[in-house]
Amino acid sequence: MTNIQFIATDLDGTLLNSEHKVSQENEQALKEAVEKGIEVVVSTGRAYFDVKSIFDQLGMNTWVISANGAVIHDPFGEVYHSTSLQEENAKRILAWLEERDYYYEVFTNEAIFTPNRGRELLEIEMDRLKSANPDTDIKILEHAAEVQYSQSGFAYIDTYEELFRREQQLSFHNILGFSFFHDRLKAGWETFGQDPNLTLVSSADHNFEIGSKDASKGQALTKLAEKLGIPLSQTAAVGDSLNDESMLRVAGVAVAMGNARKDIKELADQVTLTNDEHGVAHMIRHLLK
Ligand code: CA
Repeated sequence: MTNIQFIATDLDGTLLNSEHKVSQENEQALKEAVEKGIEVVVSTGRAYFDVKSIFDQLGMNTWVISANGAVIHDPFGEVYHSTSLQEENAKRILAWLEERDYYYEVFTNEAIFTPNRGRELLEIEMDRLKSANPDTDIKILEHAAEVQYSQSGFAYIDTYEELFRREQQLSFHNILGFSFFHDRLKAGWETFGQDPNLTLVSSADHNFEIGSKDASKGQALTKLAEKLGIPLSQTAAVGDSLNDESMLRVAGVAVAMGNARKDIKELADQVTLTNDEHGVAHMIRHLLK
Protein backbone atom coordinates (compact mmCIF):
# COMPACT_ATOMS: atom_id res chain seq x y z
CA MET A 1 0.00 0.00 0.00
CA THR A 2 1.47 3.30 -1.03
CA ASN A 3 1.16 6.17 1.37
CA ILE A 4 1.25 9.24 -0.86
CA GLN A 5 2.12 12.48 0.94
CA PHE A 6 2.95 14.70 -2.02
CA ILE A 7 1.18 15.14 -5.36
CA ALA A 8 2.77 17.16 -8.19
CA THR A 9 0.45 18.12 -11.00
CA ASP A 10 1.15 19.69 -14.36
CA LEU A 11 -1.28 22.41 -15.53
CA ASP A 12 -1.92 22.53 -19.29
CA GLY A 13 -3.43 19.34 -20.63
CA THR A 14 -3.51 17.98 -17.06
CA LEU A 15 -5.17 20.02 -14.29
CA LEU A 16 -6.63 22.49 -16.82
CA ASN A 17 -9.35 21.30 -19.18
CA SER A 18 -9.37 22.24 -22.86
CA GLU A 19 -10.98 25.56 -21.92
CA HIS A 20 -7.92 26.20 -19.70
CA LYS A 21 -10.00 26.08 -16.52
CA VAL A 22 -9.73 24.02 -13.31
CA SER A 23 -13.04 22.12 -13.19
CA GLN A 24 -15.06 22.00 -9.98
CA GLU A 25 -14.35 18.27 -9.75
CA ASN A 26 -10.61 18.89 -9.88
CA GLU A 27 -10.79 21.81 -7.46
CA GLN A 28 -12.73 19.74 -4.94
CA ALA A 29 -10.35 16.78 -5.20
CA LEU A 30 -7.30 19.05 -4.70
CA LYS A 31 -8.89 20.57 -1.62
CA GLU A 32 -9.74 17.13 -0.24
CA ALA A 33 -6.12 16.08 -0.69
CA VAL A 34 -4.91 19.20 1.14
CA GLU A 35 -7.38 18.53 3.98
CA LYS A 36 -5.92 15.06 4.34
CA GLY A 37 -2.51 16.64 4.85
CA ILE A 38 -1.15 15.88 1.39
CA GLU A 39 1.22 18.46 -0.05
CA VAL A 40 -0.11 19.57 -3.46
CA VAL A 41 2.46 21.06 -5.81
CA VAL A 42 1.78 22.67 -9.17
CA SER A 43 4.54 21.93 -11.65
CA THR A 44 4.37 23.72 -14.98
CA GLY A 45 6.21 25.26 -17.89
CA ARG A 46 4.27 28.45 -17.28
CA ALA A 47 5.60 31.42 -15.35
CA TYR A 48 4.81 31.81 -11.64
CA PHE A 49 2.56 34.88 -12.00
CA ASP A 50 0.41 32.92 -14.43
CA VAL A 51 -0.02 30.05 -11.97
CA LYS A 52 -0.73 32.48 -9.15
CA SER A 53 -3.58 34.15 -11.02
CA ILE A 54 -5.17 30.71 -11.60
CA PHE A 55 -4.75 29.54 -8.00
CA ASP A 56 -5.85 32.83 -6.43
CA GLN A 57 -9.23 32.20 -8.03
CA LEU A 58 -9.39 28.82 -6.27
CA GLY A 59 -8.39 30.35 -2.95
CA MET A 60 -5.47 27.92 -2.69
CA ASN A 61 -1.84 28.54 -1.78
CA THR A 62 0.49 25.73 -2.76
CA TRP A 63 4.12 25.22 -3.57
CA VAL A 64 4.69 26.05 -7.24
CA ILE A 65 7.33 24.71 -9.59
CA SER A 66 7.34 27.01 -12.64
CA ALA A 67 9.27 27.58 -15.89
CA ASN A 68 9.81 23.81 -16.25
CA GLY A 69 11.53 23.47 -12.91
CA ALA A 70 13.70 26.59 -13.04
CA VAL A 71 11.87 28.24 -10.14
CA ILE A 72 10.24 26.98 -6.93
CA HIS A 73 7.94 29.29 -4.93
CA ASP A 74 6.71 28.52 -1.45
CA PRO A 75 2.98 28.77 -0.57
CA PHE A 76 3.51 32.37 0.58
CA GLY A 77 4.79 33.42 -2.84
CA GLU A 78 8.47 33.64 -1.87
CA VAL A 79 11.14 32.17 -4.14
CA TYR A 80 12.58 29.09 -2.46
CA HIS A 81 14.95 28.14 -5.26
CA SER A 82 15.79 29.27 -8.78
CA THR A 83 18.13 28.16 -11.53
CA SER A 84 18.96 30.37 -14.50
CA LEU A 85 20.55 30.03 -17.88
CA GLN A 86 24.02 31.51 -18.03
CA GLU A 87 23.83 34.91 -19.71
CA GLU A 88 26.01 33.85 -22.63
CA ASN A 89 23.76 30.86 -23.29
CA ALA A 90 20.59 32.96 -23.11
CA LYS A 91 22.15 35.44 -25.54
CA ARG A 92 23.20 32.73 -27.97
CA ILE A 93 19.75 31.09 -27.97
CA LEU A 94 17.90 34.37 -28.40
CA ALA A 95 20.17 35.54 -31.22
CA TRP A 96 19.50 32.28 -33.03
CA LEU A 97 15.71 32.58 -32.60
CA GLU A 98 15.56 36.25 -33.56
CA GLU A 99 17.74 35.90 -36.65
CA ARG A 100 15.38 33.20 -37.92
CA ASP A 101 12.15 35.07 -37.12
CA TYR A 102 10.86 32.65 -34.50
CA TYR A 103 8.13 33.76 -32.14
CA TYR A 104 9.75 33.45 -28.71
CA GLU A 105 9.10 34.06 -25.00
CA VAL A 106 11.78 34.71 -22.41
CA PHE A 107 10.76 33.71 -18.89
CA THR A 108 12.61 35.89 -16.39
CA ASN A 109 12.32 36.99 -12.77
CA GLU A 110 10.62 40.22 -13.98
CA ALA A 111 8.29 39.30 -16.84
CA ILE A 112 7.79 37.13 -19.88
CA PHE A 113 9.54 39.11 -22.60
CA THR A 114 8.30 38.60 -26.15
CA PRO A 115 8.92 40.48 -29.41
CA ASN A 116 6.60 43.35 -30.33
CA ARG A 117 6.14 41.69 -33.66
CA GLY A 118 5.37 38.27 -32.15
CA ARG A 119 1.78 38.11 -33.36
CA GLU A 120 2.84 39.26 -36.81
CA LEU A 121 5.46 36.48 -36.94
CA LEU A 122 2.87 33.83 -36.12
CA GLU A 123 0.38 35.27 -38.63
CA ILE A 124 3.05 35.11 -41.32
CA GLU A 125 3.69 31.46 -40.43
CA MET A 126 -0.04 30.68 -40.56
CA ASP A 127 -0.33 32.31 -44.01
CA ARG A 128 2.69 30.39 -45.29
CA LEU A 129 1.32 27.12 -43.97
CA LYS A 130 -2.11 27.81 -45.45
CA SER A 131 -0.74 28.61 -48.91
CA ALA A 132 1.52 25.54 -48.85
CA ASN A 133 -1.36 23.37 -47.70
CA PRO A 134 -4.86 24.83 -48.26
CA ASP A 135 -6.44 22.05 -46.15
CA THR A 136 -4.68 23.26 -43.00
CA ASP A 137 -7.15 23.69 -40.14
CA ILE A 138 -6.32 27.27 -39.25
CA LYS A 139 -8.63 27.19 -36.17
CA ILE A 140 -6.32 24.72 -34.41
CA LEU A 141 -3.34 26.96 -35.14
CA GLU A 142 -5.17 30.08 -34.00
CA HIS A 143 -6.13 28.30 -30.79
CA ALA A 144 -2.49 27.30 -30.14
CA ALA A 145 -1.42 30.91 -30.69
CA GLU A 146 -4.18 32.18 -28.36
CA VAL A 147 -2.92 29.89 -25.60
CA GLN A 148 0.44 31.65 -25.83
CA TYR A 149 -1.11 35.16 -25.86
CA SER A 150 -3.42 34.40 -22.91
CA GLN A 151 -0.60 34.19 -20.34
CA SER A 152 -0.18 37.00 -17.82
CA GLY A 153 2.97 38.99 -17.19
CA PHE A 154 4.08 39.89 -20.71
CA ALA A 155 6.47 42.72 -21.53
CA TYR A 156 7.30 43.61 -25.13
CA ILE A 157 10.69 44.20 -26.72
CA ASP A 158 11.96 45.23 -30.17
CA THR A 159 14.99 42.97 -29.90
CA TYR A 160 16.42 40.52 -27.37
CA GLU A 161 19.47 42.78 -27.14
CA GLU A 162 17.44 45.12 -24.92
CA LEU A 163 17.46 42.41 -22.25
CA PHE A 164 21.25 42.59 -21.95
CA ARG A 165 21.50 46.39 -21.75
CA ARG A 166 19.66 46.73 -18.49
CA GLU A 167 21.17 48.04 -15.29
CA GLN A 168 19.58 45.28 -13.23
CA GLN A 169 20.65 41.95 -14.64
CA LEU A 170 17.76 39.62 -15.40
CA SER A 171 17.55 35.95 -14.40
CA PHE A 172 16.77 33.91 -17.50
CA HIS A 173 14.69 30.98 -16.29
CA ASN A 174 13.48 29.53 -19.55
CA ILE A 175 13.24 30.39 -23.26
CA LEU A 176 10.39 29.14 -25.42
CA GLY A 177 10.61 28.95 -29.21
CA PHE A 178 7.38 28.49 -31.14
CA SER A 179 6.62 27.52 -34.72
CA PHE A 180 3.87 25.86 -36.73
CA PHE A 181 6.52 24.31 -39.00
CA HIS A 182 7.85 20.90 -38.13
CA ASP A 183 11.24 21.62 -39.74
CA ARG A 184 11.66 24.79 -37.66
CA LEU A 185 10.91 22.90 -34.44
CA LYS A 186 13.32 20.19 -35.52
CA ALA A 187 16.02 22.80 -36.20
CA GLY A 188 15.63 24.00 -32.60
CA TRP A 189 16.06 20.48 -31.24
CA GLU A 190 19.05 19.83 -33.48
CA THR A 191 20.76 23.07 -32.53
CA PHE A 192 20.24 22.94 -28.75
CA GLY A 193 19.17 19.38 -27.92
CA GLN A 194 22.67 17.95 -27.43
CA ASP A 195 24.13 20.96 -25.61
CA PRO A 196 25.41 19.74 -22.19
CA ASN A 197 24.65 23.17 -20.62
CA LEU A 198 20.98 23.03 -21.50
CA THR A 199 17.76 21.12 -20.87
CA LEU A 200 15.45 21.03 -23.87
CA VAL A 201 11.83 19.94 -23.46
CA SER A 202 8.45 20.57 -25.01
CA SER A 203 5.05 21.12 -23.40
CA ALA A 204 2.97 21.32 -26.59
CA ASP A 205 2.96 20.45 -30.28
CA HIS A 206 4.34 23.76 -31.53
CA ASN A 207 7.11 24.66 -29.14
CA PHE A 208 10.47 23.81 -27.65
CA GLU A 209 11.58 25.12 -24.28
CA ILE A 210 15.16 25.66 -23.20
CA GLY A 211 16.42 25.95 -19.63
CA SER A 212 19.62 25.35 -17.73
CA LYS A 213 20.85 21.76 -17.45
CA ASP A 214 20.06 22.04 -13.72
CA ALA A 215 16.42 22.92 -14.34
CA SER A 216 13.77 20.28 -14.88
CA LYS A 217 10.50 19.36 -13.26
CA GLY A 218 12.16 16.18 -11.97
CA GLN A 219 15.08 18.00 -10.32
CA ALA A 220 12.66 20.50 -8.75
CA LEU A 221 10.40 17.74 -7.45
CA THR A 222 13.38 15.94 -5.91
CA LYS A 223 14.61 19.14 -4.25
CA LEU A 224 11.20 19.97 -2.86
CA ALA A 225 10.48 16.46 -1.56
CA GLU A 226 13.81 16.59 0.26
CA LYS A 227 12.98 20.01 1.73
CA LEU A 228 9.60 18.72 2.94
CA GLY A 229 11.15 15.54 4.32
CA ILE A 230 9.03 13.29 2.11
CA PRO A 231 10.70 10.26 0.51
CA LEU A 232 10.35 10.17 -3.28
CA SER A 233 8.61 6.80 -2.93
CA GLN A 234 5.72 8.67 -1.25
CA THR A 235 5.31 11.20 -4.06
CA ALA A 236 3.01 11.03 -7.07
CA ALA A 237 3.23 13.11 -10.25
CA VAL A 238 0.81 13.53 -13.14
CA GLY A 239 1.35 15.02 -16.58
CA ASP A 240 0.79 14.70 -20.32
CA SER A 241 3.87 15.93 -22.21
CA LEU A 242 7.61 15.63 -22.68
CA ASN A 243 8.33 18.31 -20.10
CA ASP A 244 6.73 16.00 -17.51
CA GLU A 245 9.00 13.06 -18.27
CA SER A 246 11.67 13.99 -15.72
CA MET A 247 9.19 14.28 -12.84
CA LEU A 248 7.35 11.10 -13.82
CA ARG A 249 10.69 9.29 -13.74
CA VAL A 250 11.50 10.35 -10.16
CA ALA A 251 8.03 10.22 -8.57
CA GLY A 252 7.03 7.11 -6.58
CA VAL A 253 3.81 6.87 -8.55
CA ALA A 254 3.91 8.20 -12.12
CA VAL A 255 0.51 8.94 -13.64
CA ALA A 256 -0.12 9.84 -17.27
CA MET A 257 -3.24 11.67 -18.40
CA GLY A 258 -5.65 9.85 -20.70
CA ASN A 259 -4.80 12.52 -23.28
CA ALA A 260 -1.03 12.20 -22.75
CA ARG A 261 1.46 11.43 -25.50
CA LYS A 262 1.94 7.73 -26.14
CA ASP A 263 5.56 7.71 -24.87
CA ILE A 264 4.47 9.41 -21.63
CA LYS A 265 1.75 6.79 -21.09
CA GLU A 266 4.30 4.06 -21.66
CA LEU A 267 6.67 5.25 -18.96
CA ALA A 268 3.88 5.88 -16.40
CA ASP A 269 2.74 3.42 -13.71
CA GLN A 270 -0.89 4.36 -14.24
CA VAL A 271 -3.03 6.14 -16.82
CA THR A 272 -5.94 8.25 -15.57
CA LEU A 273 -8.85 9.86 -17.47
CA THR A 274 -8.37 12.82 -19.84
CA ASN A 275 -8.16 16.47 -18.77
CA ASP A 276 -11.75 17.01 -19.97
CA GLU A 277 -12.87 14.06 -17.80
CA HIS A 278 -11.24 15.53 -14.64
CA GLY A 279 -8.36 13.04 -14.80
CA VAL A 280 -6.54 14.67 -11.85
CA ALA A 281 -9.60 14.29 -9.56
CA HIS A 282 -9.90 10.68 -10.67
CA MET A 283 -6.24 10.06 -9.86
CA ILE A 284 -6.47 11.74 -6.43
CA ARG A 285 -9.55 9.72 -5.45
CA HIS A 286 -7.75 6.57 -6.52
CA LEU A 287 -4.64 7.46 -4.49
CA LEU A 288 -6.64 8.41 -1.39
CA LYS A 289 -8.68 5.20 -1.40
CA1 CA B 1 1.16 19.79 -20.00
